[in-house]
Amino acid sequence: MKLLEERILKDGTVLGKDVLKVDNFLNHQIDPVLMQELGNAFADYFADRNITKILTVETSGIAPAVFAGLALGVPVVFARKHKSLTLTDNLYCASVYSFTKNTTNEIAISKNFLSSEDHVLLIDDFLANGQAATGLIDICQQAEASIAGIGIVIEKSFQRGRQELEAQGFDILSLARIRAFENGIVQFVEEEGS
Ligand code: 5GP
Repeated sequence: MKLLEERILKDGTVLGKDVLKVDNFLNHQIDPVLMQELGNAFADYFADRNITKILTVETSGIAPAVFAGLALGVPVVFARKHKSLTLTDNLYCASVYSFTKNTTNEIAISKNFLSSEDHVLLIDDFLANGQAATGLIDICQQAEASIAGIGIVIEKSFQRGRQELEAQGFDILSLARIRAFENGIVQFVEEEGS
């Protein structure tokens, strides 16, 4: 998606050899106009898949997921990373290793909001090694919900997430695909027809 690529080039900062900071429009300050465009792009691609629910992980998956939910007319559920006083039992849980924080989090979704009737679109802000997506897939499997596909805002294609998820048969739409960071400059995967 050209609009997103341009925004990454304008406002993204490369940290070290494999982390992109996009605090200006996605991970801290949020640009709602851009988020709506992203949500619409997910909704267009997955429009005819009979999706009943969108699943994401707090915090940064929520904004694009909500706009996709608005466009598809379905609810959005976010997995919680932190223990909550009001969310104590009746949970589906999975362990997720965080690539950027170097810690393992339990993520949890209430059993009230996911069931075997659901056909789910998974959405997240970044795809690196696929740990967050794998945690959400694990939770869907516990609930016996089926998975329609995976929508990612920014994929770092030089990490192994896409390859591993595709090998399991998942359809992935990434709105920006980063091939490499070269001298601190983001290089995108050349898409056919772009
Ligand atoms: P994965 O689980 O695919 O290894 O990593 C994806 C998760 O880690 C995302 O939910 C995101 O929060 C975080 N993440 C991974 N790589 C980056 C990155 O380069 N920049 C930022 N801001 N977050 C990242």
